[in-house]
Amino acid sequence: MLPYGQQWLDEEDIQAVIDVLKSDFITQGPKIFEFEQSIANKVNAKYAVAFSNGTAALHGACYAAGVTEGDEVITTPITFAASSNCVLYQGGTPIFSDINLTTYNLDPDVMESKITTRTKAIIAVDFAGQPAEMERFKEIAEKYNLILIQDAAHSLGATYRGMKVGSMADMTMFSFHPVKAITTGEGGVIVTDSEKYYQRLLLFRSHGITKNPELLEGNQGSWYYEMHDLGYNYRMTDMQAALGISQLQRLDQFLARRREIADKYTEAFAGLKGLITPHQTSHSESAWHLYVTRWLSGSFKVDRRTLFDALRNEGIGVQVHYIPVYQHPYYEKLGYTSLCEKAEEFYSTAISLPIYPKMNEVDVSDVIQAVKKVYNQFTNHPSRHE
Ligand SMILES: *Cc1c(COP(=O)(O)O)cnc(C)c1O
Repeated sequence: MLPYGQQWLDEEDIQAVIDVLKSDFITQGPKIFEFEQSIANKVNAKYAVAFSNGTAALHGACYAAGVTEGDEVITTPITFAASSNCVLYQGGTPIFSDINLTTYNLDPDVMESKITTRTKAIIAVDFAGQPAEMERFKEIAEKYNLILIQDAAHSLGATYRGMKVGSMADMTMFSFHPVKAITTGEGGVIVTDSEKYYQRLLLFRSHGITKNPELLEGNQGSWYYEMHDLGYNYRMTDMQAALGISQLQRLDQFLARRREIADKYTEAFAGLKGLITPHQTSHSESAWHLYVTRWLSGSFKVDRRTLFDALRNEGIGVQVHYIPVYQHPYYEKLGYTSLCEKAEEFYSTAISLPIYPKMNEVDVSDVIQAVKKVYNQFTNHPSRHE
């Protein structure tokens, strides 16, 4: 079975980890700061704080933004649960706002209508790697004095109106889970231009404890440190950071390959009526974390589940991204009900095809052939394609 996503580690990546294992520091050593600087440079941000995973990083961003009980944070339901769980961790209330059915990203106009006096922040998600409408979100955030967080777990290396993802929001999160653009096994980062957020993120990552002489209230000796807030141990290890530094050098190559695969799919599926390929806005370059197709219900003799199973039977590890977050039993128990019509329409038709840089030409053509086979088997449309 061809998975929908997978890491690509080479000998240099492995050697980088081994080198750390043989060194003095395996955590809280020099590789963390080096990795943070490399990421910040790559995405045109001033500061970066590495975390044990992307979810912890999002939690840190909500903490740094000051999200607390009574605060509302608006996000999309078409995302991984971590995008809104981070708000719950801080005692805040996630508010789900509907998507645009062309880009599958949060619709800024609908989002603006959800703003109340309690709204504290926006978490915009770059679904599938295509950046959210950041220009509009920035305008809205300024107008209502909101903090703009970008969940860019899918979009490391993407650009928006000539700007790099990571250089636009107040805080931007990247994830280094193995299916993401580059991997550290588990890992995440927040990038920001704000010194204030940077300091808060550092504190939060390490128990709320600081040794920074400029921040200490007292000084009882060179052993001295202070706990200023209730933080967590959300640190990354030096093994992971070394892997990240090595992987980051291959990001451009990875992105180029993802784009190549996406172009091949889009070309191969052009003209298959009822099978919708991802729309790309003219002002952004996606990082192509996912290749999401939609199989419109009126166009097939069977439902999405049958189409999905048929593709799996062909050995294609298709997936569905995502179940609208508020439909999960946990969220239903919190009182969330169906509220985003377009998100639900999207969800009922979506199937993600495998896309990752390590796929070879045979893999790509296997996917294309399987899609065409399943399409031809179940389409309602008379003009069939071979
Ligand atoms: C992967 C992902 C996360 C969480 O990242 P982890 O590193 O797995 O904790 C958050 N949001 C989105 C949209 C993701 O895809």
